[in-house]
Amino acid sequence: MTPQLLTRYADILAAVERVDATAYARTRNYTDGAVSHLSPYISRGVISLPYVRERILSRYSREQAYTFIFELAWREYFQRQWYRLGEQLWSDIKGPQQDVVHHDVPDALMDGRTGITAIDTAIADLYTSGYMHNHVRMYVASIACNIGRAHWSAPSRWLYYHLADHDLASNTLSWQWVAGTFSAKKYYCDQANINKYCHTQQGGTFLDVPYEQLPHLPIPAVLKECSVPQLVTMLPDAPAPQLRYDRPLLIYNAYNLDPLWRADMDANRVLLLEPEHYRKYPVSQRVLSFILGLAENIPGIQVFCGSVEQLLHTGSFPEVYAKQHPTTLHYPGIKDEPEWLFPEVDRVPGAFMSYWKKCEKYL
Ligand SMILES: Cc1cc2nc3c(=O)[nH]c(=O)nc-3n(C[C@H](O)[C@H](O)[C@H](O)COP(=O)(O)OP(=O)(O)OC[C@H]3O[C@@H](n4cnc5c(N)ncnc54)[C@H](O)[C@@H]3O)c2cc1C
Repeated sequence: MTPQLLTRYADILAAVERVDATAYARTRNYTDGAVSHLSPYISRGVISLPYVRERILSRYSREQAYTFIFELAWREYFQRQWYRLGEQLWSDIKGPQQDVVHHDVPDALMDGRTGITAIDTAIADLYTSGYMHNHVRMYVASIACNIGRAHWSAPSRWLYYHLADHDLASNTLSWQWVAGTFSAKKYYCDQANINKYCHTQQGGTFLDVPYEQLPHLPIPAVLKECSVPQLVTMLPDAPAPQLRYDRPLLIYNAYNLDPLWRADMDANRVLLLEPEHYRKYPVSQRVLSFILGLAENIPGIQVFCGSVEQLLHTGSFPEVYAKQHPTTLHYPGIKDEPEWLFPEVDRVPGAFMSYWKKCEKYL
């Protein structure tokens, strides 16, 4: 059961204290496993990876927390890749995706009617909760790209749109990993794998074939109807912010909603929603409401819908601050260092396991 999305900061901190790191290590691959559901708060920058690690290590030994921290490192690895790859994130990284037939999204996936119960249920749940279990994300991506032969770009945009934890690096690189453009080979799942991890007992589906046949399947009839969804973010009609031009300006965005960031500073605090960003990377209205809900934890914050240049043209501030992040590269002013889990490992190799081996030394 996916828990409800939290927006109150105190509730989010309490959710960190509920993580069961030992059960996590045993069960994380199962859809009813003890996963943390913390990604919406980590991705929105409300809590940092070092904070989560510190709280887990206050209750568990390093050995008990190992698997959980290993998974946190995946997130950091993807963020590091984003810095390294920049715009290259949007093209096939290790080479063109093989066997691509189209650049659309199978309608049956978007409508949750693939005929595979675990997938269809998870898609219906995504639309109400904004969450999808990691294993199911892999299944969905594999069905879209490797069985349905879609290029990863359109389906990844569709999933991103609906995820409360939408993150351009984790999402795009995971899709590329499944599609074989950021990995050595494509990822396939059969019905037996889905049944095992989703506790279903379904047979007779298009994935109910011997595993080695999966790469050679013709596109199943149910995946043949495809389209590119119209994904649009309607930004709120926010009143012009009341700004004091004798105070610094702190710029937040949907990747930094940290209530503790420069909390003791007497400053203007603005949540910047840039139309150009949301035109390129739209999110649903439900997800946008979540972002606005999280922003309420930041005292005095005001919303500005426009470009960073338009915000700065409203007047002149003594200082402008933002957190360093790939989404803030074009902001002027002072950029505060992000909080890294492994600040020592700033050169990221291509493969996650090589990266992890470097990180492990500092665990
Ligand atoms: C196709 C696809 C798309 C994805 N899109 C996103 C996305 O847009 N945003 C996003 O945050 N994650 C994405 N992921 C990664 C992963 O699915 C989610 O981070 C995870 O499911 C979040 O649930 P949780 O908080 O319960 O994770 P837990 O299993 O409880 O893990 C704890 C934390 O570790 C990090 N983490 C765990 N697994 C991964 C992983 N594989 N990759 C990156 N970080 C991880 C997350 O910050 C997570 O909150 C995607 C994975 C796939 C396969």
